[in-house]
Amino acid sequence: MAEGQPIGIHEMIYPLMQGWDSVMIRCDLELGGTDQLFNLLRGRDLQREEGQEGQICFTTPLVNGIDGRKMSKSYGNTINLSDTEPVVRQKLKTMVTDPARVRRTDPGNPDVCPVYEFHKIYSPQAVQEQINNDCRSAAIGCIDCKKQVADKMVEQMTPMWDAHAKLTKDPAQIEAIDMGRRGLHNDGAKLLAERLDGKIECDFDTARRIFTLVTALHWKG
Ligand code: SF4
Repeated sequence: MAEGQPIGIHEMIYPLMQGWDSVMIRCDLELGGTDQLFNLLRGRDLQREEGQEGQICFTTPLVNGIDGRKMSKSYGNTINLSDTEPVVRQKLKTMVTDPARVRRTDPGNPDVCPVYEFHKIYSPQAVQEQINNDCRSAAIGCIDCKKQVADKMVEQMTPMWDAHAKLTKDPAQIEAIDMGRRGLHNDGAKLLAERLDGKIECDFDTARRIFTLVTALHWKG
């Protein structure tokens, strides 16, 4: 708007529809990429207009897709949690790198390389520094560099794949876990409300929201 660019009607409706979802489910906490901040905050506005507490908004940095653009299903450039190990490795093999690094002997620039962005997420600090130096001096090639990040990704995704495989074989467990989670959530919120009762103003709904936030932070880290 500030730059005088035209705004499509869908750009106005989308945040409203997303925000209304938050109203309909009385959302406590919404997660999204940093590019979603505007939409998440519209959810808060609408909730307040409807007499609800505004949701807590968490944003996370955007991740590159294998073509170097923002990772998005619409672009078909995603690495999915549901991908198998061979698929993850294959996708990484085709990932774009520093476009100026044409030959193996050309020094590269990790600052413009999407693969290096994955190293920043998955590799330890010492490995990141090593790659950073080796890329700039052409001591490492892109194939080896990609293999290193693929190994780290697979290492960190394997426990999730194993758990998923076990649960897929026994769907009743999923229902049991979900029921347990919901029971735990309500019990936790009830306990918190009892503990806080009289000390600070905190009704059950507020306690439930605090409990949601605390458990989300716990899972995060
Ligand atoms: Fe990117 Fe790694 Fe190749 Fe450097 S060596 S350009 S960081 S893939």
